[in-house]
Amino acid sequence: MARIVITSGPTRQYLDPVRYLTNGSSGRMGSALAEAALQLGHEVIVVSGPVSVTYPPGAKVIDVISTEEMLEATKQAFATADGLIGAAAPCDYMPRQIEKYKLHKTGDGLQLSLVETPDIVASLGAAKRSDQWVVGFALETEDIRFRAIVKMSRKCCNMMVSNSAEAMNSDENSVEVILQDGSVLGQLFGPKAEVARGILGHIQTHLIAKRASQ
Ligand code: C5P
Repeated sequence: MARIVITSGPTRQYLDPVRYLTNGSSGRMGSALAEAALQLGHEVIVVSGPVSVTYPPGAKVIDVISTEEMLEATKQAFATADGLIGAAAPCDYMPRQIEKYKLHKTGDGLQLSLVETPDIVASLGAAKRSDQWVVGFALETEDIRFRAIVKMSRKCCNMMVSNSAEAMNSDENSVEVILQDGSVLGQLFGPKAEVARGILGHIQTHLIAKRASQ
C-alpha cells in the first residue's frame, strides 16, 4: 500500500475581497484518480481547491483556496507520502497585491499587475527523495507530446499524463501516459473514471511496484 497525495481542482487568487482569478477545472479528474487509488488499496490525501465535485469518502481531503496554500498543504502531506499526482490546475498568476476594499469602477478600465505563483509539482518534483515519485499532468493545445516531455523534465516528474484542452470541465478524457525516459506507455480515453483506473495501473506497475522491489 502506498500513501498518495493528489492535488485537484482550480485555485483562486483574489484581487479584492469579492473578485478573483481562477480557471474552469472541475476537480473531476482528481476525484476519479482518488477513487482509482483507493480501489487499489492505497491511502489517499486530496489537496483540493474550491470545487463542487465530491471526493470519495475514503480519501482525506484538505481544502485550500490559493496556489500558495495548495503548495503549503501539499508540501506537508508529501513529506510522509510515497507519491504525488498533480492533477490540479492551480492559477499561474496572482495580483501583485490584494486590495483591502472592493475595487470601484472609475470608467477608465482596470490595469492588473500580476506575478507568477509557485509551481507545486515543480517544487516537490525537484525536492523529492529517491523513494518518492511525482506524476504531472500537461494540458496542451499544440505539440502535445513534445511539450509534455519538456514539462516532465523541467518539473522533475517520473511520469507525465498529457491531455488536450477538451479535458477541462468534461466527463471524458483522452490522455497519453509518458515515462521519464520518454517512452509512451499508451493512450487512454473514455470516461474519467476509466482513464483514472488506467493511469493508476501504470503508476502501480512503473512507480509503486518498482520501488517496492528495490
Ligand atoms: O505548466 P503547466 O501548468 O501546464 O503544468 C501542469 C502541471 O503542473 C500539472 O501537473 C499541474 O498540477 C502542475 N502545476 C502546479 N502548480 C502550478 C501550475 C501547474 O503544480 N502553479
